[in-house]
Amino acid sequence: MGRVALGADGPKSRPNILFIMTDDHTTQAMSCYGSRVNQTPHLDRIAKEGMRMDRMFVTNSICTPSRAVILTGKYSHLNGVPVFNRFDGNQQHVAKLLQQAGYYTAMIGKWHLGSDPTGFDYWNILPGQGVYNDPTLYEKDGSTVHKGYATDVIADLTIETIKQRPKDKPFFVMSHHKAPHREWTPNEKHRKMFENKRIPEPANLRDDYAGRTDALREQKQSVFHDMTRRDLKLTPPAGLSAEETRKWLQVKPTEVETVIDGVKKTLTGRALEDWKYQRYMQDYLACVQSVDDNVGRVLEYLDANGLGENTVIIYTSDQGFFLGEHGMYDKRFMYEEALRMPFVVRWPAGIKAGSTSDAIGINCDFAPTFLDLAGAAVPKDMQGVSLLPVWKGRKPANWRRSMYYRYYHDPGDHNTRAHYGVRTTTHKLIYFWKKDQWECYDLRKDPAEMRNIYNDPGARKVVAELKQELQRLRKELKDDDQFAESQPQESSYVQAPPPKKR
Ligand code: CA
Repeated sequence: MGRVALGADGPKSRPNILFIMTDDHTTQAMSCYGSRVNQTPHLDRIAKEGMRMDRMFVTNSICTPSRAVILTGKYSHLNGVPVFNRFDGNQQHVAKLLQQAGYYTAMIGKWHLGSDPTGFDYWNILPGQGVYNDPTLYEKDGSTVHKGYATDVIADLTIETIKQRPKDKPFFVMSHHKAPHREWTPNEKHRKMFENKRIPEPANLRDDYAGRTDALREQKQSVFHDMTRRDLKLTPPAGLSAEETRKWLQVKPTEVETVIDGVKKTLTGRALEDWKYQRYMQDYLACVQSVDDNVGRVLEYLDANGLGENTVIIYTSDQGFFLGEHGMYDKRFMYEEALRMPFVVRWPAGIKAGSTSDAIGINCDFAPTFLDLAGAAVPKDMQGVSLLPVWKGRKPANWRRSMYYRYYHDPGDHNTRAHYGVRTTTHKLIYFWKKDQWECYDLRKDPAEMRNIYNDPGARKVVAELKQELQRLRKELKDDDQFAESQPQESSYVQAPPPKKR
């Protein structure tokens, strides 16, 4: 450890940074976090040869806002992206600062910020959400259709970008996968691995929401009620027009015809609910398996080319995701499964193999950490702090003991109530401000967040303390409710420009 004197002996000693991020992958589907549903050997390898962080939290659990936080090191209310709105690339962000500090910067894959990247020497991105099969990606000078599966294509382009980089500079490469985002279309070989598997259900798949606020009852991200025929990969009847097919696929079915053990069956009620959960998980996990394979390929490339030792390789996702917990899919809520980001990091020159940390980290910390790695100054207006001391196994005594969360996108596609809150090492307080309703959880006794103690006489003291902490954080982070009334916008969709001229 400590073989790299940061910034002390010139640019050659500065580490490369490879930031791999997926879209909607969650710790419950990663074996190094104790998954009950799948195995992810290559992602686990990063943790085994580096560090696993157990309390990495997203500050606004939804795709575009999380990406803006990661780039700017600032909360949504300061980076201007509270909902699915366009990112203003003229503002300060980490890629620009690393570029100025002498890094070669590149961005590959899912960008999803509604404006073209700035601050990257090279970029090649999916338009909007992109597609899983034969995806189009575009660069400064036009678009290209890449034959194959998106996760393979993005890993190939990442390896190619590292190969082609200028060798006289350290690199900062963001490699962002589309997977395992809805509608969870797997690669055929991985689909086969899961098609006959029975996936264990979470204990609170049939949560009745007793004692909680209206938000859980009103949400429309229920595995049983809100999966569409498209999500469930049902085949439209022959002879429909394109428009009729689109409409047919949008329906949330209450009965499904399927073939089980060679017998045609119509599923309804509980049998259909069971089937929907299995269908969802089989596809989701198959998408994750392709990510795992491809991260393995990238690791192999780095190690085979002498880049293993001094490249910081991070694997994370833009937020967590519900895999049936509280009956839900998707993210958005401040509950643990959506709040917690997977976060593993390997850097042989700077991190002890097999370490773990329970330090509270947030996605605002990523940018300051990258700048610290580069020996560059962290601008005062960034709201995160460098994770380097934590990675080096010496958590400072004054490390944060709580984090602030705020979600704005209400109602959005899933009728999610806007909320903000605080999570400490032991408790969570959530305020649905448009409804003036509160939830409070003791995470030591109730990690699944099933018992709202907000109105318990015995919880008065802790609730009062949490409210005080919430106000302290809001003040410190300069959240003046400027975006409290933000209305959801359509997912920032960008059309690919015309094909590249040859
Ligand atoms: Ca996402």
